[in-house]
Amino acid sequence: MTKSKSFQAGRHFLQIPGPSNVPESVLLAMAQATIDHRGPEFPALTFRILEKLAAVFNTTSSIFIYPASGTGGWESALLNTLSPGDKVLAFETGHFSTLWKILAEKLGLELLWVPGDWRHGIDAAVVAERLAADKDATIKAVLAVHTETSTGTTSNIKAIRDAINAAGHPALFLVDAVSSLACSEFRHDDWGVDVSISASQKGLMLPPGLCFNAVSAKALAHAKSSTFQHSYWDWDTMLEHNKRGYFPYTPGTNLLVGLDQALSLLHAEGMDQVIARHARLAQATRLAVAAWGLENICLNPDEYSNSTTAVLVPAGQDADNLRQIILERFNMSLGTGLGKLQGKIFRIGHIGDLNDLMLAGTLSGVEMGLSLANIPHRKGGVDAALSYLASS
Ligand SMILES: *Cc1c(COP(=O)(O)O)cnc(C)c1O
Repeated sequence: MTKSKSFQAGRHFLQIPGPSNVPESVLLAMAQATIDHRGPEFPALTFRILEKLAAVFNTTSSIFIYPASGTGGWESALLNTLSPGDKVLAFETGHFSTLWKILAEKLGLELLWVPGDWRHGIDAAVVAERLAADKDATIKAVLAVHTETSTGTTSNIKAIRDAINAAGHPALFLVDAVSSLACSEFRHDDWGVDVSISASQKGLMLPPGLCFNAVSAKALAHAKSSTFQHSYWDWDTMLEHNKRGYFPYTPGTNLLVGLDQALSLLHAEGMDQVIARHARLAQATRLAVAAWGLENICLNPDEYSNSTTAVLVPAGQDADNLRQIILERFNMSLGTGLGKLQGKIFRIGHIGDLNDLMLAGTLSGVEMGLSLANIPHRKGGVDAALSYLASS
């Protein structure tokens, strides 16, 4: 028998910042026979999910679920609330904010783009300044990415809302919470967010395939006067059907059954505890990175992300070579550098279904990989993380 690489013993370590690990009970829930989405059992499932989701977004207003990736959630938010040619204010925090901007431009929106260095979050003072200067309220929406997953930077959404209020500006506030929801504190209602966008494959611990729009009353009202042409994303139609526990077209049935279970797990742990767990694992990761003598891409400690840590490799080193060695030797996937950071960074995902020992294994794989790839670093990263985990 020749040796085959098609089998590797033990579990694959999926430590990318989404898709994240899916708990076994969620996988098993999704492996049940598909049920009739127009049958009598379906409304109870829909209502259960919407109720449990509301407690994750911290909202009492409507949440819409589509079979789509997070990109669909971006598109839906823009098409439902705005009209062709509308001006929107957006901020370059990294790769995902740039992708959202490009999408908005393709739809025919006019972007007021605030450039950034991919190492900081959104500066609320700039939001205040731009909106105060917009005396005729020509800016129709402010677009913000809460956690910029490409850099591991989390912007202060409440501070941005306060800046919008201080300027007395009527712009809608649209927030990408794709990789922050169920990882960092997120308060749709209290922070006056008009549309929160999220997706299934990050903190919600599901495979990719569902996106979400949590929608304020103000955003629903704007949807009445939007002149964008669209059909699939129609909130009105969705709302009509959801009221009766159904969907206007075939929903992602098995993913919804998985979502029901994933939400039960989150609430059984307690949302505050879920967020505290992410904060703690993120801190342990950063201690390891610092002990290795490597640099965190995020420069502002107040903006460190609970979901992912992006690590710069020293100049002249190839982060993708490191990732490849770690994948081949230790069967672990780490996040690649996106956009202009390709090859310069690797990202450690600490998002979703993760505990101390999974993180310890993850950091051990990184530390061994750094040696194998001959990347200059100090030893002791894993030790630093373990000491913290053992004592906190
Ligand atoms: C993952 C992610 C998205 C969604 O990307 P899709 O590939 O369309 O699911 C959007 N924004 C952020 C910040 C993300 O991390």
